[in-house]
Amino acid sequence: MAELDKPQREVEVPGDWTYASAPESRDIVEIADRYGHFVGGEWLEPTETYETIAPRDEEPLAAVGQATAADVGRAVAAARTAYADGWSSLPGSERAKYLFRIARILQERSREFAVLESLNGGKPIKESRDVDLPLAAAHFFYYAGWADKLEYAFPNRRPRPVGVAGQIIPWNFPLLMLAWKVAPALACGNTVVLKPAETTPLTALLFCDVLRQAELPDGVVNIITGDGRTGAALVESEDVDKIAFTGSTEVGKEIQRRLAGTGKKLTLELGGKAANIVFDDAALDQAVEGIVNGIYFNQGHVCCAGSRLFVQESIYEPLVAKLERRLTTLRVGDPLDKNTDVGAINSAAQLERIRELVASGEEEGAEIYQPPCVLPEKGYWFAPTVFTNVAQSYRIAQEEIFGPVLSVLTFRTPEEAIEKANNTPYGLSAGVWTEKGSRILWMAQRLRAGVVWANTFNRFDPSSPFGGYKESGFGREGGLHGLEPYLTFEDSETFGG
Ligand code: NDP
Repeated sequence: MAELDKPQREVEVPGDWTYASAPESRDIVEIADRYGHFVGGEWLEPTETYETIAPRDEEPLAAVGQATAADVGRAVAAARTAYADGWSSLPGSERAKYLFRIARILQERSREFAVLESLNGGKPIKESRDVDLPLAAAHFFYYAGWADKLEYAFPNRRPRPVGVAGQIIPWNFPLLMLAWKVAPALACGNTVVLKPAETTPLTALLFCDVLRQAELPDGVVNIITGDGRTGAALVESEDVDKIAFTGSTEVGKEIQRRLAGTGKKLTLELGGKAANIVFDDAALDQAVEGIVNGIYFNQGHVCCAGSRLFVQESIYEPLVAKLERRLTTLRVGDPLDKNTDVGAINSAAQLERIRELVASGEEEGAEIYQPPCVLPEKGYWFAPTVFTNVAQSYRIAQEEIFGPVLSVLTFRTPEEAIEKANNTPYGLSAGVWTEKGSRILWMAQRLRAGVVWANTFNRFDPSSPFGGYKESGFGREGGLHGLEPYLTFEDSETFGG
């Protein structure tokens, strides 16, 4: 065997395993200097504009219109005309063709959209590329499939479109939230006026180009930009038949008050303070990945983020040690770098809110851990943060932080876990980590949350309904359930059963 021995050569072992930067080129996206409102298939010149920026370095990206009540009125009128002029009476199979086209175009242009989403919103490119864009396209594909099957989805109920839908979306998943709202609305035969969030209008404006490419009839989707005043004007518009809102509980309540007694349909997808519950029989390394995904995905700007971690007491120390070690490997930085795990905070206002709540956690007596990481000097940044020694009464355990901040609490028995997890005004989502199937079912029946994930977190599929209890809102988006808010039904008895 001696002759087979390879000559021994000294191989230099690299000592530095730091990732080289791998920036995604932004050349693929063309950003105009100025944008108007997309109304009736045309660009409406705005009377007033504001600047939208890149949160990673505060670079100004474009001047965007601030829609006035008159602009909102024009958009609603265009949507009403398109509704009456044929869209609502188009056979479902014809509407489906447009939705399929939109889905395909989104897939074809996904890189362009992903770069723009990360640039304007601050989320890591690997998330916009691998999560936001594929899911947005999947929503259009999914609801295209329902457009000609509404009679079968709701047998004997004679589904009819509602009319003009006013849709107001937040800044955490700008294109995905647009897809969640526009796809079911169109599949059901409604027309739309959509307002993206003030800080993240650019992918919605690029989407107007997709609508033109898909040759969607003019006025079926209208996009107006602006701040909360524009949203309020849309809510108050008399000719809107339905409002779909995703955002803060405070604004959601205000909208509900305004619409009370008007007969308009309303769905609210609001905040959350999800419990992620880890039992002592769970696969700890897998759970740590789920915890990290649950709270640091999209910088924690996620309504269903697992922001309260409940750990069974017997595994508290090893789990927290593993979690803190894992945090040291998270790469915080340029959203356009393909290696980045945690990107920029969406806005100065949101950064301020995170800082204020984190300061309250320290003042109230919680223990803070942040991994060593160098944050860029310009732009809005916050290091991934874990709080231990947290009491349930602390603000960081009660209020939605909407940032990369986790509060760790403990429990001894499943009953105690349920009691603590449900001790919140919210009820959007929860996670359970255990190897026992029966325990998963026992927990899922008792957790007051719209979605309960088992041995995973933040999993989305267009066919699965999503929505909340209590102050997390009402109505469901996604799946068959997501069609209902965009339909009216004739009484099945009148119809003859
Ligand atoms: P908002 O609820 O203010 O924003 C959501 C959307 O509503 C935006 O398009 C916003 O416009 C619009 N809007 C604001 N005021 C009104 C109004 N009076 N009538 C109609 N529409 C309105 O959320 P923020 O951006 O202020 O975030 C604050 C907090 O809300 C976050 O820290 C987080 O806790 C929570 N939040 C929860 C989200 C969720 O998915 N559940 C999403 C976003 C935030 P504009 O952007 O121009 O203000």
